[in-house]
Amino acid sequence: MGNIVAIVGRPNVGKSTLYNRLTETRKAIVDDMSGVTRDRHYGVAEWTDKSFTVIDTGGYVANSEDVFEIAIREQVIIAIEEATAIIFMVDVVTGTTDLDDEIAGVLRRSKKPVFVAANKVDNNMLLAQSAEFYGFGLGEVYCISSMTGSGTGELLDEVVKTFEDVEEEKNELPVYAIVGRPNVGKSSMINSLLGRQRNIVTDIAGTTRDSIHIHYKQFGHDFMLVDTAGLRKKTKVRENIEFYSVMRTIKALEEADVIILMLDALEGIESQDINIFHLAEKNRKGVVLVVNKWDLVEKDHKTAKEYEKTIKEKLAPFTDVPVIFTSVTEKQRIFKTIESAQKVYENRAKKISTSKLNDILLPIIEKTPPPATKGKHIKIKYITQINASSPMFAFFCNLPQYIKEPYKRFLENKLREHFDFSGVPIQLFFRQK
Ligand code: GDP
Ligand code: GDP
Repeated sequence: MGNIVAIVGRPNVGKSTLYNRLTETRKAIVDDMSGVTRDRHYGVAEWTDKSFTVIDTGGYVANSEDVFEIAIREQVIIAIEEATAIIFMVDVVTGTTDLDDEIAGVLRRSKKPVFVAANKVDNNMLLAQSAEFYGFGLGEVYCISSMTGSGTGELLDEVVKTFEDVEEEKNELPVYAIVGRPNVGKSSMINSLLGRQRNIVTDIAGTTRDSIHIHYKQFGHDFMLVDTAGLRKKTKVRENIEFYSVMRTIKALEEADVIILMLDALEGIESQDINIFHLAEKNRKGVVLVVNKWDLVEKDHKTAKEYEKTIKEKLAPFTDVPVIFTSVTEKQRIFKTIESAQKVYENRAKKISTSKLNDILLPIIEKTPPPATKGKHIKIKYITQINASSPMFAFFCNLPQYIKEPYKRFLENKLREHFDFSGVPIQLFFRQK
């Protein structure tokens, strides 16, 4: 199970500033590579070797006065249900407001760990003022400055202590999650696989329900499906539908080995889809892309190829991913989708022997060695696959620090050419030897 940390609080307390600080480096890299502006409300953060998803709830509520309080209240409830831990942020400069008290009330009733972060404590003079936040009855108050980063380390030290151990509570069955924006056809796909209707609606204030796991065992397949579609909550506030769906998707993604990312053929790939795709990539999950409602597209023999090319341009550099064109309503390629997910699952678990790796890669490296840097020759001596849940390779060499990004890509491409890693992110490490 992955861990999700939700930052809640009223507007302007500094949630997105903290969010940016926690996700900074990685976000910049990914944005650079794809050249696409994306929603930035959730991302991967790391603290003391622990990686987790952090979500800035503020991004999901519009600032219109009338829906405001209800929206925030609902969000906090959703966050309590879905997150591992919650950071409740308040602002030491403005002090406690009615909305703060309201949120605190909701949080006091939750069983999830809550951390009160008194933000904007930019200097020691403001420390004393934070004492009022003990009045929430939510325990310790962590004084931080999101802007300078001071105090955030102490806060995160405590937050990560609440995490469940992610380490391989290994499910023997493959776990696939069907994800995608509303209306792309996720429920239809699941119904079609199951041969019956599923339709579950729960009320927002209802009891907590875990994401739904379906054990699928038919026609020679045996896997778990994590369903993000079957569960629909009624919410009073439109923005929260998206917030809820994003929380569900992140959770499902973290539980899965492979995600089946569905798109609507008429709408193409959008920033939200790309965001999920990169989240899967960062979490080193397998991916199958499904372009559904293919029946609605006017096409000739070139259409699929061109469509695939357009999608992949937006996903670069990780483009070695299967793309399946389906029509759920016409029952086209539904099983091909599952077969593809299974293949990706196998690719992700694949182990290549050190001798095979070296037999194939060393001659290639000899022919095209890493370019010399500062007059120094770089020699890669041998390669071995690291024992991990997704493919990772260690390249042992004399000067690992001099190997540049383009050469890393070259090696990754060669690995992909010679060993099938379709749908799977792979990682390369360069180590001194
Ligand atoms: P959000 O609405 O809760 O996401 O708040 P923002 O992150 O957008 O921050 C609101 C304002 O507070 C911005 O002008 C930030 O620059 C400012 N701010 C955020 N963190 C700090 C902090 O630690 N110290 C000070 N002085 N200002 C901060
Ligand atoms: P979800 O929100 O992702 O679960 O999407 P649904 O399964 O509820 O589907 C949304 C709408 O798209 C429904 O009206 C479906 O009948 C329709 N739909 C689903 N798959 C297809 C398809 O392959 N072709 C066409 N034409 N419509 C589809």
